[in-house]
Amino acid sequence: MKREKLAAVRGMNDLLPAEAPLWEAFEARAIDVLRAYGYRQIRTPIVEHTALFARGIGEVTDIVEKEMYSFVDQLNGEHLTLRPEATASVVRACIEHNLLYEGPRRLWYMGPMFRHERPQRGRYRQFHQVGAEALGFAGPDVDAEQIVLLKRLWDVLEIGPVRLELNSLGSGEERARHRAALIAYFEAHADQLDADARRRLHANPLRILDTKNPAMQELVRQAPRIADYLGAESRAHFERLQELLAAAGVPYSINPRLVRGLDYYNLTVYEWITDRLGAQGTICGGGRYDPLMELLGGKSAPGCGFAIGVERVIELLREAGERGDTSDCDVYVLHQGGGTYLAALRAAESLRDAGLDVILHAGEASLKSQMKRADASGAELAVIVGETEAAEGKAAVKGLRARGAEAPFAQQRVVPLAELGEAVSAALAAMSASNAQPGT
Ligand code: ATP
Ligand code: MG
Repeated sequence: MKREKLAAVRGMNDLLPAEAPLWEAFEARAIDVLRAYGYRQIRTPIVEHTALFARGIGEVTDIVEKEMYSFVDQLNGEHLTLRPEATASVVRACIEHNLLYEGPRRLWYMGPMFRHERPQRGRYRQFHQVGAEALGFAGPDVDAEQIVLLKRLWDVLEIGPVRLELNSLGSGEERARHRAALIAYFEAHADQLDADARRRLHANPLRILDTKNPAMQELVRQAPRIADYLGAESRAHFERLQELLAAAGVPYSINPRLVRGLDYYNLTVYEWITDRLGAQGTICGGGRYDPLMELLGGKSAPGCGFAIGVERVIELLREAGERGDTSDCDVYVLHQGGGTYLAALRAAESLRDAGLDVILHAGEASLKSQMKRADASGAELAVIVGETEAAEGKAAVKGLRARGAEAPFAQQRVVPLAELGEAVSAALAAMSASNAQPGT
């Protein structure tokens, strides 16, 4: 009986080996930049109590209303959710483990998030974020520092222009006054509201500003602006942030309609946007969430962070021609079976002792067909252990890529096994140095 093939869940992608090097390159550079600013990693579980997100994100948000993968644990009746984002989890972990006891913390995380959205370009049901949270810092210096960090990351990644849009949401009280003005305004134009907006009108009118409905854009453009409701303290925070960004040479524009998908933000909010990804052009969102710690049952402490949409950045990298290190190994070791296999095995281990990535050909095959595999592996060098070499305690080394007659091992050369690791790593180092300076 032929069995039906199983497929991945819609909107959830496999990361295949051809694409993985690009992800690895991105992750390595992101971690480098995060560490350059003193951030340390935190890993929280993928499954949390549903209540964490209901409280930590807000009941009347897209995420909590309609995007969460929530289920009841069949074994103990607990209400659980696959995390749609990680800020609430990081703050929960900080409270649970009293991480702020010894002072403020700079933390980063990366991993999959889950949201039941309509899958399309740049929007998936399992997607990945790299994010950072600075907890216990009132800002605005840390707000600016995170934005500068992100600017450095975009530069390091060479993904081309990404613009920064900035806004301030003020304090809870300021938002409450703005909110009253918004409700009055939208009530006066009730005939122009769509069903979503009508539902949100009294629960969360700020989110109406975030509408993606083209028919409502004009209405939203004319709506009361939070900027006109900010008090002196909020204005000072926002102005200082802008001074710091100007001093750091980070261009930005103020978008008075920018709000975040999550409910707990205050003061600083921002998004990094590219025009090269179609409708899903936001590659990173961030801002301040001072009320969250207390909201989740902790001692009040300010917080500020961002989350990068990894799939979207990967798409920019791919378009920029980046592929990451797509080779399977540095060195491919060939042998002629029988006694030569043991010599080849020792040769491969000595190369690995020297820190190299090595594939030792498995199974028996002609040297010609092994050479084809060596070529396809992306290795720079082949090490060949034939009958003669094995008998003499040596191996032949041959360059696999066209690098000119001067390149190490451009001509096949025999090297004693005892010197193999050193000779091969020196040759590879010379090759990667000549890669780094094209034209020499
Ligand atoms: P949007 O308005 O596009 O739905 P959001 O406000 O829900 O975005 P955040 O919760 O701020 O997004 O998440 C931070 C980043 O994660 C986004 O800027 C985006 O790059 C990425 N992201 C969010 N949802 C998805 C998704 N479903 N698939 C892929 N990336 C996503
Ligand atoms: Mg969303």
